Amino acid sequence: MIQTEHLINELQSHGVRLADPRAGVASRRGGAGPSDHKAITIGDTTVMVPVHTAPAFESPYLVEAPDETGQSRIRRNGVDLGPISFPKRPRFYDLTTEDGTPYSKIAVLHGKDVLATTVLQTCIRYQSRTKTCQFCAIGQSLAAGRTIERKTPAQLAEVAKAAVELDGIKHMVMTTGTPPGNDRGAAILTESARAIKAAVDLPIQGQCEPPDDDAWFARMHDAGIDTLGMHLEAVTQSVRTRIMPGKASVPLSRYFDAFAAAVPVFGRGQVSTYILAGLGDTPEAILGISDRLIALGVYPFVVPLVPISGTPLESHPAPTPAFMDSILSPLSDMLRAANLLAGDSKAGCGKCGACSALSIYEKRAAA
Ligand code: SF4
Repeated sequence: MIQTEHLINELQSHGVRLADPRAGVASRRGGAGPSDHKAITIGDTTVMVPVHTAPAFESPYLVEAPDETGQSRIRRNGVDLGPISFPKRPRFYDLTTEDGTPYSKIAVLHGKDVLATTVLQTCIRYQSRTKTCQFCAIGQSLAAGRTIERKTPAQLAEVAKAAVELDGIKHMVMTTGTPPGNDRGAAILTESARAIKAAVDLPIQGQCEPPDDDAWFARMHDAGIDTLGMHLEAVTQSVRTRIMPGKASVPLSRYFDAFAAAVPVFGRGQVSTYILAGLGDTPEAILGISDRLIALGVYPFVVPLVPISGTPLESHPAPTPAFMDSILSPLSDMLRAANLLAGDSKAGCGKCGACSALSIYEKRAAA
């Protein structure tokens, strides 16, 4: 089989066709962040691979129908590349709350052992075409009835406890649409984390825009949020303004001030940011920002753009494998030199790593 990090770049760029579309755990469609994915496992690495995007329908990669144990094989233009498998459907998906809400509408499995939820499924940035982040589908899963608008702290605690006990979930990601108000979602993440931690010992990542008051970082941490994600998405101001006109009104300088204030609270390597490669930023721009982030102790989680169906970017090309390699290869060297590694993160997207080949590059560099 070709080197794993290059195969992951290939699969995340081209997507895959599934001989049996029902294979594996139900894929994420819509929602906040990258979507239209399905988790597959290559060796001991689980990655999210696009299956519902336009490129995926024409992908040279085909995954055969799995056998009864979830084992399958992957082919490129008919040539067998080796075995893959699918994570099992989690058992907590079979449960419902007392008020009749399926657990799977409250939180879902990401990768192989991450519980993920969008605490608030609406967003001030998603109200109009002129303000919405063009890559985001936070309203689609809500409109389709696959989730509920507001997950209460009690619901999240109930589902998290079950997911740990029934499925061995190792950490949790809580993201949120941005509500009106100056805390930018920090308040609902704080109350949610407090309830979850009272119910179960589970490392949690909170993800939100920088709140207007840095005092929120200590409140979030004290409530049980172990790691914090504040996501730049794009790094060049012209790209930010074009792709996410609402969110770009928060200047990069505010993000960097917030990073500098958050790292002493959460710890070096426990604050991270998502950077979506393929939106128009050059590799030099992404690596330049990453250099500044690493100097602050912030982990730059660079992932390939997934052009989600139904969003304004659905016809936008995904970044090529060569483009991803031109960023992830030098970035992994920078991260290793700074000893700021995905494996040292306590919770969240950096630790999961399934949306990017970055953590595999880090391990390769260590070999
Ligand atoms: S990297 Fe983050 S968004 Fe991607 S599968 Fe893992 S937890 Fe989910």
